[in-house]
Amino acid sequence: MGKYKAVIGLEMHCELKSNAKVFSKAKNSYEDLPNIYVSPVDMAFPGTLPSLNIECIRKGLMASIILNCKQPEYMVFDRKNYYYPDLPKGYQITQMHNPVGVNGSITIEMDGYDKKVDILDIHLEEDSARLNHYSNYSLIDYNRAGVPLLELVTAPCLDNADEAVAFLEAMRKIYQYCDISDADTKKGQIRCDVNVSIMEEGAKELGTKVEIKNVNSFANVREAINYEIKRQSELKDAGRYDEVEQETRRFDEESGTTKRMRSKVDAIDYKYFIEPNIPKFKIKKSWLDEIKKSIPMLPRERKELYIKEYGLSNYDATIIVKEKSYAEYFEECIKLGMNPKTVANYLIVNIIAYLNKWAIELKDFYLTPNLLKQIIDALDKGTISSKQAKEIFNKSLEEKNEPKNYITSDSAQISDESLLEEIINKVLENNSKQIEDYHNGRTNLFDYFVGQVMKETRGKANPSLVKEILNTKLNK
Ligand code: ADP
Ligand code: MG
Repeated sequence: MGKYKAVIGLEMHCELKSNAKVFSKAKNSYEDLPNIYVSPVDMAFPGTLPSLNIECIRKGLMASIILNCKQPEYMVFDRKNYYYPDLPKGYQITQMHNPVGVNGSITIEMDGYDKKVDILDIHLEEDSARLNHYSNYSLIDYNRAGVPLLELVTAPCLDNADEAVAFLEAMRKIYQYCDISDADTKKGQIRCDVNVSIMEEGAKELGTKVEIKNVNSFANVREAINYEIKRQSELKDAGRYDEVEQETRRFDEESGTTKRMRSKVDAIDYKYFIEPNIPKFKIKKSWLDEIKKSIPMLPRERKELYIKEYGLSNYDATIIVKEKSYAEYFEECIKLGMNPKTVANYLIVNIIAYLNKWAIELKDFYLTPNLLKQIIDALDKGTISSKQAKEIFNKSLEEKNEPKNYITSDSAQISDESLLEEIINKVLENNSKQIEDYHNGRTNLFDYFVGQVMKETRGKANPSLVKEILNTKLNK
């Protein structure tokens, strides 16, 4: 292993977020009971005709623009003919000849370098119904039939599992930030076909590719790729490379291996032709311009902004842009005038940990930016210590009570300089022997003085201020 170069290409399917299905008025939703969001069009009843959902086209075009693809002059759909129980029409409406985008690319950030990923095409299509298999029967849920799908096909340009997963992660975020999709892998909204081949270092021709169908999590994409590289390399080492066939395999989660499904030689001829029930229409330049203008700031730009404008570390900024909800929360806090670094720190160390612990989403989190402000501002002004802030944070979440109700004058830190000076003077007056020792070299007595002040104030003095004042008084 290691002496071969791996080549990977991805086909990423993503269910769009939309008010309705792509060719019918039925609701596009995953929750609830099976077979409740179904229209006669989705069931292919005789005499029904599809009508195009413009919102889906718009989102497809937006993705195409973001991926620097070329958009077609006309919007045209194709019919892909095959029979399967999850496909009541006996064909899928897709885009074969004029996809919403071709020949694009996007640069993603890797650990220490930038990777340009070439996009062959991105096209719109409809999802099939969902088949649920049981011991000796299967059930069909048509809620998914006709849900808009965006399929993106990369060139065979990814070198390893890290790059493949980083690309998928980057696309997932982009889809979320642009509201193109919730892109939730747990809901099956993202599914990938992973194509893998190996070749000798420096070889001119690509090796034989194997396609692993329908991998449903990024962790599985990683495992499937690594397993497949190993499998192919071992066959090659053993002089059995001819056993690597153009075939379709599936990832078996239990064993972490890929298993053969069928040979590509048996590929079906789909008899594609232009979908006659959807009239083609011209895509106006002005519409594309308008879509382009409506693209929000993408996660990577946001991250750079957080680092440059707000002084966050690369690490903190990376965590915050990981989820759109985190970024929105963070930006809302900034808008309210809070200190960005304190907010970032609170978000990462306390809030995200809390969300994970209780498995809740940020939108359901009790401390809205407005409420968090009460803590952050008090902390920044030094009226409370960070320890007190943490306690107030916990109490306020526990009792669903505004933080300001816990920031009493009693809990408040003493940050009043003249008051602190008075107390410090008193402490120093009572410790003249220690001051002498201090000036004779026992500098560790400094902490003793700090301790005396804290004792005097029952722990409420602002420690950094105390140190500052003591420092000037002792070393002047
Ligand atoms: P098919 O006709 O089998 O669907 P395509 O040429 O459409 O093949 O490519 C499908 C996917 O396979 C693309 O993502 C592409 O990048 C990838 N791919 C093509 N050739 C190879 C290869 N030799 N190794 C790895 N991936 C490949
Ligand atoms: Mg293909």
